[in-house]
Amino acid sequence: MANEQESFKKVISHAKEYGYIFPSSEIYDGLSAVYDYGQNGAELKKNIKEYWWKAMVQMHENIVGVDSAIFMHPTTWKASGHVDAFNDPLIDNKDSKKRYRADVLVEDHAAKIEAKIEKEVKKAEKRFGADFDKEQFLSTNPRVLRYQEEIDTILKRLGRSLEKEDLADVKALIEELGIADPDTGSKNWTDVKQFNLMFGTKLGATAESAMDLYLRPETAQGIFVNYLNVQKTGRMKIPFGIAQIGKAFRNEIVARQFIFRMREFEQMEMQFFIKPGTQQEWYEYWKEHRMKWHLSLGIDKENYRYHDHEKLAHYADAASDIEFRFPFGFKELEGIHSRTDFDLASHERFSGKKLQYFDPEENKSYIPYVLETSIGLDRMFLAVFSSALQEEELENGTSRTVLRLPAVLAPYKAAILPLVKKDGLPEIARKIFDELKWDFNVDYDEKDAVGRRYRRQDAAGTPFCITVDHETLDNETVTIRHRDSMEQKRVPISDLKGIIDEETAMSSWLKRIQ
Ligand code: ATP
Repeated sequence: MANEQESFKKVISHAKEYGYIFPSSEIYDGLSAVYDYGQNGAELKKNIKEYWWKAMVQMHENIVGVDSAIFMHPTTWKASGHVDAFNDPLIDNKDSKKRYRADVLVEDHAAKIEAKIEKEVKKAEKRFGADFDKEQFLSTNPRVLRYQEEIDTILKRLGRSLEKEDLADVKALIEELGIADPDTGSKNWTDVKQFNLMFGTKLGATAESAMDLYLRPETAQGIFVNYLNVQKTGRMKIPFGIAQIGKAFRNEIVARQFIFRMREFEQMEMQFFIKPGTQQEWYEYWKEHRMKWHLSLGIDKENYRYHDHEKLAHYADAASDIEFRFPFGFKELEGIHSRTDFDLASHERFSGKKLQYFDPEENKSYIPYVLETSIGLDRMFLAVFSSALQEEELENGTSRTVLRLPAVLAPYKAAILPLVKKDGLPEIARKIFDELKWDFNVDYDEKDAVGRRYRRQDAAGTPFCITVDHETLDNETVTIRHRDSMEQKRVPISDLKGIIDEETAMSSWLKRIQ
């Protein structure tokens, strides 16, 4: 735990030091759970968006994108169920006056038991060495089985109580498990209450005519209300998808985990419209396909797992999360939800407009079912950034901080460094910069000794450093140094574009998804 906190702190301070993430309005001491992306953060975020958009829209003939407004007609949120049901169960500690999400307290308790299982696994791994069979151990070791049963019982009961809105039982569960305020250890809890997460605002100049609005808590509804517009104008045939990237707002009860849980964040969502009855097949397809997208980035697959839901949201008939091992443990990164016809049927009822699809093969009209993939852009940023940040011991006894971002996502693809600030080397370096900038975001750096510049680029995540030295004057070659291996090669200037392109081009990374 102490280690986890340490490494999480490092992630946060590194993100600030290298221009990735700043607290919002920091000169006024910041704003709780709101963050700004700096010069490098904005680039990384843009690249993640592009990687997602290309994988979803450009690579699928039957998926198109939209960009709908943040403000929506207020009835949207009645139809979607958000006015009535977009609540989180909150609980206050009477002694510390701290507020928590009751479900998260219980889930964190379960995660602690899970940590015990992991400990048993580690112990056994050591004991059995190469012969260790993890699957077998997990399914037969009596202690592990007991822990697992404990977790299952707790989560099942939590799921059932939340589904039945039995908040008294959620409190009873917290008390029975002896869960204490993580900050103070106090067990003096209030009752559990529901809290609506939508931010309200007003549209219009005068008090009488002003209309109560909400800031959208998800981008999905902007897709549903445009379903017919897109289907008709794009002459889309089922199955087809509509994708969107955009801001969403939630007045989160507890937002203490950096950009993991913010009050203003971005989502990348795709709604896939299908024939009723085919949802199981598409649910499996999108679960697998989205995992492939994640793994294509080369991040260790041990960092990912599925978590199938016990408790289903009001709109879903099946749901699974792709969880990621964040610095504070496994948590939801992306949701894959089978939403049935809940949204379109509900919008049809509330708007009085038909939202059906005429299926020429079946020769009948129906409301399509929907399969959703929904990922938080900021959470993806945190996943990529935190897993990339590494402290590395070097052979010469020193160490270096390196940000091993997937090259396709790195803010700068290369830095051009003249070895010294004289002898015509900066002029050549500038010329290389001016040639490469048409194809790549490149950095130019001539300050400090070259070794320090390498370290700076390593820590900023730049995959290549190109150094112009005196030999360049003779034969138009430079050295190119690889961030991860630190290997340097001498290459002709004319080869640079091809070398950088080979490792950073989005197309070659996207091909790994197939
Ligand atoms: P959680 O259980 O963590 O609150 P959720 O189940 O409410 O998440 P969804 O409504 O399914 O989340 O939203 C889809 C995705 O949006 C999530 O998988 C997550 O990546 C992202 N997301 C949701 N809430 C936030 C937030 N407050 N800050 C950042 N990202 C968020």
